Amino acid sequence: MTDETVRFGVLCSMFEAMVRDRSAAKKRKRFRTLLDRVYTGRDYFSAVRLILPALDRERCSYGLKESALAAALVDALGLAKDSPDALRLVNWRKGGARSGANAGNFALVAAEVLQRRQGMASGGLTIKELNDALDQLASKENREGKTAVLSGLIKKTNALEMKWILMIILKDLKLGISEKSIFHEFHADAEDLFNVTCDLKLVCEKLKDRSQRHKRQDIEVGKAVRPQLALRVTDAATAWRKLHGKHVVVECKFDGDRIQIHKNGEEIHFFSRNFLDHPEYKHGMLNVILRNITVERCILDGEMLVWDTSTQRFAEFGSNQEIAKAAREGLESDRQLCYVAFDILYVGDTSVIHQSLTERHDLLRKVVKPLKGRLEILTPNGGLNDRRLQGEPCWSIVAYTVEDVERFFKETIENRDEGIVLKDLGSKWEPGDRSGKWLKLKPDYIHAGADLDVLIIGGYFGSGRRGGEVAQFLVGLAVRSDSTSCPKRFVSFCRVGTGLSDEELDTLITKLKPYFRKNEYPKKVPPFYEVTNNSKERPDVWIDSPDKSVILSITSDIRTIKSEVFAAPYSLRFPRIHRVRYDKPWHECLDVQSFVDLVHSSNGN
Ligand code: ATP
Repeated sequence: MTDETVRFGVLCSMFEAMVRDRSAAKKRKRFRTLLDRVYTGRDYFSAVRLILPALDRERCSYGLKESALAAALVDALGLAKDSPDALRLVNWRKGGARSGANAGNFALVAAEVLQRRQGMASGGLTIKELNDALDQLASKENREGKTAVLSGLIKKTNALEMKWILMIILKDLKLGISEKSIFHEFHADAEDLFNVTCDLKLVCEKLKDRSQRHKRQDIEVGKAVRPQLALRVTDAATAWRKLHGKHVVVECKFDGDRIQIHKNGEEIHFFSRNFLDHPEYKHGMLNVILRNITVERCILDGEMLVWDTSTQRFAEFGSNQEIAKAAREGLESDRQLCYVAFDILYVGDTSVIHQSLTERHDLLRKVVKPLKGRLEILTPNGGLNDRRLQGEPCWSIVAYTVEDVERFFKETIENRDEGIVLKDLGSKWEPGDRSGKWLKLKPDYIHAGADLDVLIIGGYFGSGRRGGEVAQFLVGLAVRSDSTSCPKRFVSFCRVGTGLSDEELDTLITKLKPYFRKNEYPKKVPPFYEVTNNSKERPDVWIDSPDKSVILSITSDIRTIKSEVFAAPYSLRFPRIHRVRYDKPWHECLDVQSFVDLVHSSNGN
């Protein structure tokens, strides 16, 4: 058989069998059989790119997530928009006809619909034809074009093949075998080579012969490197134990886009976490990179963010593309792209990933001249840390005890940042590694069943980013005397600040501001509120009276804590505002007894 004639049905049979196989060894064996019996000596890439679609960079993005794919399929199948099958596709999260079976798996729901229309007979689609059609699908810009390609595919396939094609388009085959195992089965050096080149085609071509070992290749400027990743830990103590005896730096986890900047003279690439180049960042960043990076060739690792020049702080996640577009169109704005480099991988003509992080920090300081709000560096000293305003929190610290880590974590969360990353200062940078040289700690927000609707009774001023403005709230639970009248007393419950966007927070503060009463000395608590004597609890402002206040829906880490600080018997760990309930009257907030019952029932008491 030549490549031209290998049927896609052969791959589908392998996929179906892999899904049924219990052990990874069996799944690997099937892949090996495909390579040896069907594909031996041929263009492996044409099949491997369909097995690992998320790693294929030869085709650009299809621009089709489930909802767009549902709409395109409805058109391609000629379904009426309000027909049961069209609704099934559009509402794929709710599941198919079989009472919610397959809910949340778009390809399975689609397969149910397709089965009724396509029948069992395969149209004999070959792998080459499928790859050509997928190229076409990626190249079409509008929905009509994409629909036409899908219609063509539907004619040449049966429902089972079409199901797998949809999974390939969505880039997740759910085969229950890791990409690592596929690589290992392909060639002993495949994963390593992929990690330093992010080029699946090159891996398939260079490593055709399994008996030949490949000389370890180093990273190159201009070829994306698989980023080093962080292992998630649940608390500071676990993180500290894992890094026992190491020299540790703890950094703020910036919430932007992970970007590698590759500079080769005037040629600049911005590779994302998925190895895609983002030339749109050139508009805001090119000049500053050319002027402020002092070497001809280098690779920086870091986070692309947006800096707001009016507030002098980083903007929230989500506006990178909008700001890049504004820069391309030359629009005036208070916001600009700002790159924070936290690592350096290549300098001049040498890879430096084998050096320690401390040495790489030194190099970073030599190579990059920071420019405020444009190009920053994150090292324990220098750059961002040296230029922070008085009273602002640090962006990274060298930690000597677990308490240092806990304090830093608490500060970053209070400052409404995403979390922290801990790194061993003696470690090298490893492409694609998530084995625990970097650890990330983020608060866990688990819905405690339902959200808790609590009343704002006071406010705390923020520091740094929100200095002088209320940035956190003291919330309370109602004490009910009977079930019919409005509550007259509220006990303090917890302090909460994270969860709202800056805009939502500003709207809320504007609404409450007329009712803020400064908590001046001697500290008098308004008669409606019950608090303890603990000074940590005292807000900077009180809400004049509860009927002027607003309910917040909060979620939290499921673990409640016995409260020593607040008047309620329990408080929440890492509470987070889910939304502001302007629609709910103040007196309908949660009461103490209902909350205590909730805690007891979730503890199984
Ligand atoms: P997440 O959704 O938690 O960001 P992820 O899977 O995208 O996870 P991880 O490697 O697990 O990525 O977490 C680290 C990510 O955090 C990096 O990919 C990077 O984008 C981001 N980040 C922000 N600040 C830092 C920092 N100081 N050091 C390393 N990574 C950082």
